Amino acid sequence: MKPVRVLALASEIYPLIKTGGLADVAGALPLALTSEDVETVTLLPGYPAVLGALEEATVAGTLPDLYGGPARLLRGRAAELGLLAIDAPHLYARPGNPYLGPDGQDWPDNAWRFAALARVAADLAAGKIGGFAPDIVHGHDWQAGLAPAFLHYAGKPHPPTVMTVHNLAFQGLFPAALLGSLGLPAEAFSIDGVEFYGGIGYLKAGLAFADRITTVSPTYAAEMRTPDSGIGLDGLLRARGDAVHGILNGIDEAVWNPATDPMIAKRYSVREPGNRRINKLALQERFGLAASRDVLLFGVISRLTWQKGLDLLLDALDGLLGLGSELVLLGTGDRALEERFAAAAAAHSGRVGCVIGYDEALAHQIQAGVDALLVPSRFEPCGLTQLCALRYGALPVVARVGGLADTVIDANEAALAEGAATGVQFAPVTAWMLRQALERVAALWRRPALWRRVQRNAMRSDVSWRRPAALYAALYRELIAGRSR
Ligand code: ADP
Repeated sequence: MKPVRVLALASEIYPLIKTGGLADVAGALPLALTSEDVETVTLLPGYPAVLGALEEATVAGTLPDLYGGPARLLRGRAAELGLLAIDAPHLYARPGNPYLGPDGQDWPDNAWRFAALARVAADLAAGKIGGFAPDIVHGHDWQAGLAPAFLHYAGKPHPPTVMTVHNLAFQGLFPAALLGSLGLPAEAFSIDGVEFYGGIGYLKAGLAFADRITTVSPTYAAEMRTPDSGIGLDGLLRARGDAVHGILNGIDEAVWNPATDPMIAKRYSVREPGNRRINKLALQERFGLAASRDVLLFGVISRLTWQKGLDLLLDALDGLLGLGSELVLLGTGDRALEERFAAAAAAHSGRVGCVIGYDEALAHQIQAGVDALLVPSRFEPCGLTQLCALRYGALPVVARVGGLADTVIDANEAALAEGAATGVQFAPVTAWMLRQALERVAALWRRPALWRRVQRNAMRSDVSWRRPAALYAALYRELIAGRSR
């Protein structure tokens, strides 16, 4: 089989810069694809965190004017990943979050900062700049959305393009007046082009022009084609028909492995899960909770936003405490939710603990120590925390939406009898149904042999990148074969 060369476009990548699951995928998929004979080079904005990490960097090209200043294209490696970084200080020489300024607002020039990512990708794909000649251009989320549009309006043969939607809620909307400054022709401002409700939609552009669209679970692929979940893009997605695919994410099994994890108090495995209890006691101590292996300990690791449904957990908190359970939460996001969880921890000290912030090591410790992980999302394209929870033997308790529906097998009577259950699902996504789910978890907890069986199933679930990587590789090869026919 001929090797495939993929140019991936991402605005964040683990372990260099991360705000969410997109970074995890951008960092893990290229490594998984190597065993499918796919070479990926990822094009990134040259934030300080990216330029600082780049090893063996060489200058692959120069651009005299990239949206208001000169830029260099650097080819290098970091963390075993092949990278191209756009060194454009006027766009990216800013520390911290890749999208937001110190005031917590979007950078005012985000339209050009991410148009630049797409512009450079299109120039690479068209052979206008050297550094990497791809067989496929694969963009992630709105930040990459203009790449298929630039390639389309250039009007020349170009490599096939794939767009992956990690979250339809982030669409990259900008004023129509920017069209000319972005380098798009006037004709692009149409319903079949980049126009979206009177403005310019970067994600819309990507979805309109990419040869294939993928999203990160089969259920989300179906949901995003409905008016309830499509956020204005459902019509376009329905029109794209068979071009839309759902491919689940995996997790990096080397980073998330309880048998080798250096960040947890005591390592354990599916064959010897008994050591989990040491992690549980350490976690209870860390959060100032009453330390007991018998009490049912729930955990949350999440951005604190409306999407994640954690206001429902606050509404169901009395129920959780009424079951005699404890809760630990690690998260950051909306100020109001942060304050409500901090207040809940103060009101129920010894039973509820919360850490407001972002802490990779603590996320591992929570996965290793809690009995069950709560993910009550209102929508969830794929979700990664429930995959980590499966691997760590923390039973995922999830809303039956998107990728959560596709990755957790509910412990209903039939699944328990089959020996297939791996967690608990609930629907519809309301505080009342979450409460019912907590009660079902508590009932399972009272049957330790059954609990251990579900936990074993969970830990044996395939959450690796092997199958997803094979599906992406098949998609790339199908597109390339289609072009050469
Ligand atoms: P999303 O991308 O919508 O935030 P995902 O579940 O797909 O949600 O991915 C979230 C990733 O970020 C997971 O790897 C999770 O462990 C991590 N994460 C989220 N919040 C925190 C936090 N406060 N501290 C550490 N890791 C976090």
